[in-house]
Amino acid sequence: MLALEAAMHERAVTESLLEIALRHARQAGANRITDLYLVIGQLSSIIDESVQFYWDIIAENSPAAGAKLHFRRIPVEIECLQCQNRFTPNDTDFSCPVCSSAKIKVIAGDEFFLEAIDVELTRANLPHR
Ligand SMILES: [Zn+2]
Repeated sequence: MLALEAAMHERAVTESLLEIALRHARQAGANRITDLYLVIGQLSSIIDESVQFYWDIIAENSPAAGAKLHFRRIPVEIECLQCQNRFTPNDTDFSCPVCSSAKIKVIAGDEFFLEAIDVELTRANLPHR
C-alpha cells in the first residue's frame, strides 16, 4: 500500500513537472523540449527511476516527448539548534556530532524542483533579421 502511495505521488509530481516545462517552453516560443534539469535533495522521497518511468508515459504526444531528464542530487545539510554546528549526517544518525544534540534543522536536502530546460525553437519563432 505504501509503495502505491509513493508511486501515485511521483505520478502527480511528474505531471506538474511537464506542466511547468511546457509553460516555460511556450513563453520562450519553443515548440520542443529536449532536456529537463531536475534537482532532488537526498532526503526527498522522489526516486529518479519512477519519475523517468512516468515521464515516458505522461510526456508522450506532448512537445516534451522524448526529452532527456537530468537529475542532480543535493546532499543533506543539517544545522544543530544547540550549538549552530552545520554537518552532513550519516544515513540514520541526525544528531549533532559536536554536542550530540538531537535538536536539528534541515537546511538542504529535501528539495525537488525543475532547475532548467533546453528547448528547440522553430524557424518561424526565430527573430527576424
Ligand atoms: Zn550541536
